[in-house]
Amino acid sequence: MRLPKIRVPMSPRSGLSTLRELLPGRKAEIAARLVCAGHRPHPSKFAEAGLSLSPVEEQQLAAWWDDGLSTRVADEVAARDGTIRMVLDLTDGERVEAVAMPVGAVCVSTQVGCAVGCRFCASGLFGVRRNLTADEIVEQVVHARRRLPIDRVVFMGMGEPTHNLDTVLTAIARIKDEAQIGARRQTLSTVGSVRAFERMAAAPVRPCLALSLHLADDARRRELLPRAYKEPIAEIVAAANAYGREVGTPVQIEWTLLAGVNDGDEAIDALCALLQGVRCYVNFIVWNPVDGMPFAAPARDRIVEIVRRVKRANILATIRDSSGPDADAACGQLRLRHHEMPAVPPAG
Ligand code: SF4
Repeated sequence: MRLPKIRVPMSPRSGLSTLRELLPGRKAEIAARLVCAGHRPHPSKFAEAGLSLSPVEEQQLAAWWDDGLSTRVADEVAARDGTIRMVLDLTDGERVEAVAMPVGAVCVSTQVGCAVGCRFCASGLFGVRRNLTADEIVEQVVHARRRLPIDRVVFMGMGEPTHNLDTVLTAIARIKDEAQIGARRQTLSTVGSVRAFERMAAAPVRPCLALSLHLADDARRRELLPRAYKEPIAEIVAAANAYGREVGTPVQIEWTLLAGVNDGDEAIDALCALLQGVRCYVNFIVWNPVDGMPFAAPARDRIVEIVRRVKRANILATIRDSSGPDADAACGQLRLRHHEMPAVPPAG
């Protein structure tokens, strides 16, 4: 019997999608699922997974397994709570972060750097250098699963996902098929855009939505998030609500708490007024200090008081304070170790 024609990947670091060049149709699909499951199975388990390989294919898959991913973990730091922050090397020498969490979630990056430039975020300090490919996004799930059991993906790492939306939606569909993590267990976090929400609503695989709001006043938000979309906040929130209702999941509103910036009664009352009638919950994020940035998190008592105030307005609210300062917990902070720190502009 003649073996099917097999081609080896174009380069030893060419990415998860090159399994399709290595193996024919269905075999490539099953192999991708095995890779995305995390740990390498013994060849005796291939048949159990429905993968029947010729000796040549088996050899080539073994070689691919050792060297086929396009990304490498260059650095990783484990926090006391078990969170693992990884810096990944990309083929062109760029670096991004991914964070595997013991709660079963991985936080993935979608771009190298970020163009939005939120004044409290380390990822936006250098602007955006390029978009990630779908392979580079999906492989972050693979690296996380090689370390922890992962069944949730949050697109909250480096980058603004809607600036790379087609690729991110492709990655979401592939994570569903290859990593077997459904759309309801994937959350795309964005500063928000009406047009992006419309495109997401029309996509074949639709993730849950997290809207990074941080302030409910247009002018002040523009100072804090200088290159976010310019649409009025009320329109962005209305479009997010429409998307959430269409998909059938509440919108997560993210609010990074910054003392003296957005933790006062006035700012919180404006948030509550904005969210009346919106199917959502608020996730208050306790800011992790970044060297040189002129911000501080509010005191613990004040955070508890804020959550009570929001709940009194009949809006669900939670506090996120999980990864801690011992693992360079702020977004983009681990990658900063590999760069010189630029001057930070003062917050508006
Ligand atoms: S918080 Fe998100 S959108 Fe803002 S600069 Fe950082 S990565 Fe970009």
